[in-house]
Amino acid sequence: MLTGVVFDIKEFAVHDGPGIRVTVFLKGCPLRCSWCHNPEGMSPQPQVLRSAAGERLAGQTFTSTELAARLNSQAELLRGEGGVTFSGGEPLAQAAFVAEVIDQLDDLHVVLDTSGYAEEPDFFAMASRADLVYFDVKLVDPEQHRRHTGASNERIHRNLRVLSGLGVPFVIRVPLIPGVTDTEANLSGITRLVAGMPGLRRVDLLPYNRAAGAKYAACGLKFQPTYDESRPVNPDTACFASAGLEVSVL
Ligand code: SF4
Repeated sequence: MLTGVVFDIKEFAVHDGPGIRVTVFLKGCPLRCSWCHNPEGMSPQPQVLRSAAGERLAGQTFTSTELAARLNSQAELLRGEGGVTFSGGEPLAQAAFVAEVIDQLDDLHVVLDTSGYAEEPDFFAMASRADLVYFDVKLVDPEQHRRHTGASNERIHRNLRVLSGLGVPFVIRVPLIPGVTDTEANLSGITRLVAGMPGLRRVDLLPYNRAAGAKYAACGLKFQPTYDESRPVNPDTACFASAGLEVSVL
C-alpha cells in the first residue's frame, strides 16, 4: 500500500469543482511559478512553517486506505453534485498514490486540478480516473514559460493533447498574472491551442492573488515575482469568446 503526503484537506469547498467538495492538497510540485500562493505545496516533504503566529507542520503522511476512508466517511454529503478534488502542489507528483486513493473511493465524483506537468503515463493514469479535469495553461511561449515557472511547457502541451483524446471533460484554467499571462498575445495563443479540443467545457480566467507572497517567509523562502505586481490585470475574454468558447472570469 502506498503512502502520500498531504498539506491540507479543505472540507465544504465550493470553488474547486461542482457542488460541495472535499479538496485534498498534495504536497510537492515540480514547477516554481513565481506567483505561486501555496509555497508550502512546493516541497514534497513535510515541513515546519514558522511565523509570528507560531509553528505549524505542513505535511501529513497518509496511507491510500487512510485517506480514502476519510473521504468515504463524507460520502453521503458529497454524493449528488459534489465530490472530491485532488489539488496541490501538483497531485501528479504523487500520481500512483492518488490513483490508489481514487480506486478505493465509494463512487465519488473526482476532479483532478493539475498543472499538467508530469510524465505521460502518470498523467494518463490520473486523468483517466477523473470525472472532470481542471487543467492549468499558463504561458504558450516556451521561453516565457521557462522563465516564469522554471520549466518547459512541452510536457504540459503533450498531456493536454492526451487529455483531449480521452473523452474526459475538462476546463482550462488561466491564472491572470499582470503583464505575464494576461497579454493579448498569450491569451490569443491559448485560444488557438485549445479551440476545438474535444472535451473542452470552458475556460476560466483566475484572478491574480495579491496575497501571493504572504506565506513565503514561513516556508524559509523569498517571494521573488518575475513581474511588476503593481500593474493592473487584463481580464480580456474577447479572443476566447470570438472563437466560440465559453469563458468565465472568476
Ligand atoms: S504549478 Fe501551482 S503549485 Fe506548482 S508552483 Fe505553480 S502555482 Fe505553485
